[in-house]
Amino acid sequence: MSGTILRVAVPTPLTRVFDYRLPEGLDTPQPGARVCVPFGRSEVIAVVLSIETRSDLPKDKLRDIKSVLDQDALLDAKTLSLLAWASRYYVYPIGEVIATALPARFRQAEPAVLPEETYYAAVASADIAALKRAKRQMQVMQYLLDHQAPVCEAEVVAVAANNRAAINALLDKGMITSLSKPWLPPCGIAEQEPPELSDEQDTAVKAVLNASKRFQPFLLFGVTGSGKTEVYLRLIERMASEGRQSLVIVPEISLTPQLLMRFQKRLACTIVSLHSGLHDRQRAMHWLAAVKGQADVVIGTRSAVFTPLPKLGLIVIDEEHDASLKQQDRFRYHARDLALVRARDANVPIVLGSATPSFESLHNARRERYHELRLTVRAGNASPPKIGLLDVRRRKMADGISEVLVAEIRRHLDAGGQALVFINRRGYAPVLICADCGATADCRRCDAHMTVHAASHRLRCHHCGAERPIPETCESCGSSDFDWVGQGTERIEQALSAAIEGARIIRIDRDTTRRKGALESHLAAAHAGEADIMVGTQMLAKGHHFPGVTMVGILDVDRGLFGSDFRAIEQLGQLVTQVAGRAGRAERPGEVLIQTRNPDHPLLGRLIREGYRAFAEHALEERRDALLPPYSHVALVRAESTHANTGRAFLKGLVEQVRLYPEEVVPRHAVMMFGPVVAPMERVGGRYRYQLLLQANQRNYLNQLLLTIRHQLEADKHARKVRWSIDVDPVDFF
Ligand code: ADP
Ligand code: ZN
Ligand code: ZN
Repeated sequence: MSGTILRVAVPTPLTRVFDYRLPEGLDTPQPGARVCVPFGRSEVIAVVLSIETRSDLPKDKLRDIKSVLDQDALLDAKTLSLLAWASRYYVYPIGEVIATALPARFRQAEPAVLPEETYYAAVASADIAALKRAKRQMQVMQYLLDHQAPVCEAEVVAVAANNRAAINALLDKGMITSLSKPWLPPCGIAEQEPPELSDEQDTAVKAVLNASKRFQPFLLFGVTGSGKTEVYLRLIERMASEGRQSLVIVPEISLTPQLLMRFQKRLACTIVSLHSGLHDRQRAMHWLAAVKGQADVVIGTRSAVFTPLPKLGLIVIDEEHDASLKQQDRFRYHARDLALVRARDANVPIVLGSATPSFESLHNARRERYHELRLTVRAGNASPPKIGLLDVRRRKMADGISEVLVAEIRRHLDAGGQALVFINRRGYAPVLICADCGATADCRRCDAHMTVHAASHRLRCHHCGAERPIPETCESCGSSDFDWVGQGTERIEQALSAAIEGARIIRIDRDTTRRKGALESHLAAAHAGEADIMVGTQMLAKGHHFPGVTMVGILDVDRGLFGSDFRAIEQLGQLVTQVAGRAGRAERPGEVLIQTRNPDHPLLGRLIREGYRAFAEHALEERRDALLPPYSHVALVRAESTHANTGRAFLKGLVEQVRLYPEEVVPRHAVMMFGPVVAPMERVGGRYRYQLLLQANQRNYLNQLLLTIRHQLEADKHARKVRWSIDVDPVDFF
């Protein structure tokens, strides 16, 4: 009888692996291959972790594998070891970690082969002049003639503006042919001449290429518009010419199409994207092309960090400071931190790029764990924006905008520029208050006010999504007299259109960009100069390039100055600098005005006068004095319950148990516990939330303790009454 045992990971919230017997007659799959196994009363897709000869369980207790889906590894050895590392570090079950790494299709039984696709090619002898009167057919024909290689159906259909009849007509006339072959990622066309590199860019490119065959993290600290992307392009180009793959991670899905286009215009190599905006089928194809080494470049969001890349040569993390690189639910991993582990395992350089590096990365650069590369000037002719504080304590304001700011915007518009007005809150007003009794309209499921959305005439909770119509009368006193207090993007849009006659305004926030393609079309309109003013939330702050913008107004920094989270000030500094960076990116110099009631705030002043770095260094000193990250390591254990205090009692019990752990598990005083405390917002979506903060000087002790806690909670029946989670290196404390 065959003695082969497969140790597999099953997608289940349990921190353990499972052993199965390989029945006679089945070939042994490689680790990293998928198998179908019986699990409880159902069957699930599992991934083989290792091949064993013995199990802790007696052989007759083991069940048989049902079938082997891949003979070869779908996840290679390096990826498996990264996933195992992540599972331990983030204290999260390996089965679910693997599920995060696999595209949805491969979490099911879908075979791991690139599907056959239809391709079209032009017949060289075709007489194109005959198509004079058929515009669409002409376009398709021209496009195919311009491309030497056959072009895939989706692309041709797009060229034909979805007019399939045009394609069929060409086929009927014998002017084009179709063929079927496994899908291959399209190749970029390098139609744009690369600019000549500045000295700083050149130094950066050379430094990374010098380290191109070993692990070396670089912090590319370049002011907005300094040409960081150009540096990435040069590095990627070189990698591709050596047959090595580059992995580029961006924080936002809205940034991938932009970057993808730019890459395709500059690089004559195969590029695929990986993000949640793709259909499952596309995503599986792109992923597989990367895994098979057929894509030279992979651009993706967070989870792309797990893509197996057999010829990996370089990793780039763009906007490395961005909080959305950290997943905020379930498997709470940080893509930047995992990318560093990955680069180390693969022995390749990694470039972390940002105009506003995270405090962690600046700290690592100071300790020379990262090699810092600086781009201090803007590329081309652009000069840095002039940033000023606008003390609005005694100014005349209309709907939250001071008259001075309005006048400045008007001046810039008159001079032919565009303006950008930033307020990090959507909707019309954050509070609806009864003018007679002072009652506010609050969410029934959260400790939060409902936001007034005037256009849709509804109240919405921005925390749980609850909504209801704006009431006619006050629930407490029956009055029909309400005040709408505070501002959101909607109100600012309205105020500006009243104040500046004839101004064309585009509002960009989650409400106006919900529809697929809406963000792209808003951005395109802004670029084309079809708008004078863009009003928006932080969506506007990220990476977008508005060459015509000469004036930026920032309206609500004061909230960020006094945030309860220790990262609030860091995030504010990043936001202000990033938003300011949208001004004057082309020939015209930019100007930034920040409205504040706290013009004497020391860190804000430093940020304006001395720039982000000086600001960060001071803020880092405050972190050091308080022993906060990066000067210590922290984790949160969170608990949510439907009844008040159940979660708190649960965490209290946990603290008592941890105190009883033997010294071998964690030496006394190696990890400090703070709490449990009520979360900054106690109730969200009808659940009460509590948290316990764990802090340690040494990461391994913290990790050891968390693993023990996880095992205990999984075994604890009472733990099922609450929803608990562990967050290692939390980025927010909400
Ligand atoms: P970042 O990524 O740092 O924000 P980009 O790479 O997007 O900056 O560059 C900003 C603009 O400057 C882009 O339009 C880019 O094409 C241009 N650019 C970059 N490098 C150069 C250069 N060396 N010479 C001229 N223009 C450049
Ligand atoms: Zn009232
Ligand atoms: Zn709510």
